[in-house]
Amino acid sequence: MSIKIDENKCVGCEKCINVCPGSLIYKNEAGKAFIKYPKDCWGCTACIKECKVMAIKYFLRADIGGNGSYMYVSEKKEELEWHMVDRKNNGKIVVTSRKEANKY
Ligand code: SF4
Ligand code: SF4
Repeated sequence: MSIKIDENKCVGCEKCINVCPGSLIYKNEAGKAFIKYPKDCWGCTACIKECKVMAIKYFLRADIGGNGSYMYVSEKKEELEWHMVDRKNNGKIVVTSRKEANKY
């Protein structure tokens, strides 16, 4: 389980850096976020919930997708939209309330 940050989308807001409980995300010289030790990510999803520009892909484990399938989160008012994309680029969206997000 790990994440990948798209430098081209990242705007350097540092929200992901501030919420990662493992302090795994840093900024490079260009002011873009990157994960230093991807294998240490335990998949809490905190960073993808905070990234407003959808720059972070969260790769799904084999038992829930695998094969390069991934998830990212967008926000609509008080709702979070969890986009799951499989290796064939087919997508599904699960909607949750932002207020309730930490219960899952
Ligand atoms: S939250 Fe998104 S835009 Fe902000 S620093 Fe992290 S990856 Fe970049
Ligand atoms: S998913 Fe959680 S542990 Fe992994 S990089 Fe994001 S905030 Fe850190």
